[in-house]
Amino acid sequence: MKNFEYNLYNPKHIKKLLSEHGFFVSKSLGQNFLINSSVGSKMAKMSGAEDGFVLEIGPGIGALTKELAKISKKVCSVEIDSRLIPILKKTLFGFKNVEIINEDILKTDIKTLIREKSDGMKAVVCANLPYYITSPIIMRLLELDLGVKAITVMVQKEAGRRICAEPGRRECGAISLAVRYYSTPRLLFDLPSSSFFPKPDVDSSVIRLEINQVAPVEIKNRDGFFRLVRAAFSQRRKILINPVASSFNISKDHLRNILLNLKIPLSARAEQLSLEQFANISNSIENFPHIRK
Ligand code: SAM
Repeated sequence: MKNFEYNLYNPKHIKKLLSEHGFFVSKSLGQNFLINSSVGSKMAKMSGAEDGFVLEIGPGIGALTKELAKISKKVCSVEIDSRLIPILKKTLFGFKNVEIINEDILKTDIKTLIREKSDGMKAVVCANLPYYITSPIIMRLLELDLGVKAITVMVQKEAGRRICAEPGRRECGAISLAVRYYSTPRLLFDLPSSSFFPKPDVDSSVIRLEINQVAPVEIKNRDGFFRLVRAAFSQRRKILINPVASSFNISKDHLRNILLNLKIPLSARAEQLSLEQFANISNSIENFPHIRK
């Protein structure tokens, strides 16, 4: 059977394709394939992939890959599951601008990959992420300073809300702060669990992180800043003095003085602070000599 005979949005066709290859979906690799025909093309367009280079993570059986290949100059898709490679060869037959790399994205040298494959074209990331590693992948993409314009990803609905939450809001978590430092997040749209095969337990959202060209706050020590954020959110409903003082091995009195100087209430909890306030606390801690590194 040739590629054009498969409709990748039709569960019956998918079942046939998978059974022809003796393939069983792996839940632990987050394999839920997109079967909502309008979403793939909409997401591809909104990702900014047009006429440029796209890094896709986890192509699965290739539904989103095809949409990206139709509008971009080149797609490079990193897929961990080697069993999917022969399937992708079939479903993407004829798309000369797609390259599949059989690797774990968490171990891939993504920066070199983009530099070598993009030929200087503008680059974006677009993916229906495996949900079990959403946060590590997003953090990696942001921290590596890849030079991409934007990262557009499908994530679990709740994770999407958290990632896009404004600092100072209840839904905010450590990842919301990190995301805001590196990018400007936007929730694009939600989609129901029936948009996937097999159907997952939860709904999804597509979010877009537009990479900041200029950092929104000045930070003296990036590692120290993220350590502060992680410590503060480790007990998000409690006042931040205890976990932060213990993480940096500084006295609570010392930390209280910092907060007083910055006019931050001593009763402040992580979810109440802005990005700027976190930056100010971090920069003040940096000024102290006896921090356990
Ligand atoms: N893009 C396809 C779609 O939209 O139908 C499939 C998305 S599915 C949610 C996630 C894909 O990521 C699966 O194909 C899975 O095998 C792959 N994957 C899981 N962990 C990965 C990793 N560490 N590196 C690369 N791919 C991974």
